[in-house]
Amino acid sequence: MGYMDERAFYRESPATKPATLSCPYCRSSDTYDLRWLVRKKIDRLPGHADDRARAMFRKAQSYMVLLDDKVSCKNIRCRRPFEVSGIKTMAFLSE
Ligand SMILES: [Zn+2]
Repeated sequence: MGYMDERAFYRESPATKPATLSCPYCRSSDTYDLRWLVRKKIDRLPGHADDRARAMFRKAQSYMVLLDDKVSCKNIRCRRPFEVSGIKTMAFLSE
């Protein structure tokens, strides 16, 4: 077994978390449910992993990445799509 994809270290699942965002066009602030991809570190590597994969696995941490980069403004008089900004797009998770 040579190269092992880092994704083999995690179990992936979707998650939704609320975030307060302000529309840059109409300035209204609202709560948006943003979609995240959670990568939870698996308990142990498969037996065929090599030394390099084991070293990478030891350093690996559970984390989540933001999937949404745009939302549509909730103000019915605006409704314009705008980019998600001001929040971290990646976060480590404590076990
Ligand atoms: Zn707006």
